[in-house]
Amino acid sequence: MGRDLAELAQRWRKAENAVVLTGAGLSTASGIPDFRSPGGRWERYQPVTIQEFTSSEESRREYWSYKGETWAVISEAQPNPAHLALASIANAARIELLVTQNVDGLHERSGFPVDRLINIHGSDSAVTCLSCNRREPRAHAQALWESGHKIPLCECGGPWKPATISFGQGLIETDLNKSFEAAAACDLFVAAGTSLVVGPINEMFSMARRTGAYTAIITGSETPFDGQASCKIEDPLEQILPAIADRVLA
Ligand SMILES: [Zn+2]
Repeated sequence: MGRDLAELAQRWRKAENAVVLTGAGLSTASGIPDFRSPGGRWERYQPVTIQEFTSSEESRREYWSYKGETWAVISEAQPNPAHLALASIANAARIELLVTQNVDGLHERSGFPVDRLINIHGSDSAVTCLSCNRREPRAHAQALWESGHKIPLCECGGPWKPATISFGQGLIETDLNKSFEAAAACDLFVAAGTSLVVGPINEMFSMARRTGAYTAIITGSETPFDGQASCKIEDPLEQILPAIADRVLA
């Protein structure tokens, strides 16, 4: 912590239109690991594309065995000080929009105002039926899986799928447009806990920079935009964001 943190907090105090993008690094302090990391319990699971899910019963079973097992970790995780700091800044009307790549629902559970939140990669907390598009809380299909239905089915006969955006599945256009419009209109852009390698949402950084916004990247990992950012802070988010919130809200 130091000069960069003080500068960022000062900019945030004065910002009229602050936009935040968050990624997996924000939730590691909540005990949500990168599930497919080498040597991990879930390493054997490969991502299932939406095309595989819809065309192959074996893929649906494989997908649900991964999702079914990891839900216990996600549903029991609690927001950490980084989530809480962002919620307090937003509740003081100092964040115009927060876009998260996470599907864990921890921003909602931290009290972040949902009208200023976009879950750009969907949510693990709900399921949708791929046949009739019905949407229900995750518990609805999870209970079926836990009682032995390897592929939980909707009453219409279609397969339930957690409401995350899978590989091969397009983002929701209105969410993407809203995210890009916010990035192109902001005067402060903060990327927190994301390595900014997943497109197209990482384009928010360049859009914000082109408008002349102050751009901050807070993550321990390297990003393709480190050389272009106004500042890069590598300290842990659960320390940095509360320290910034204290200064912004002082
Ligand atoms: Zn259905």
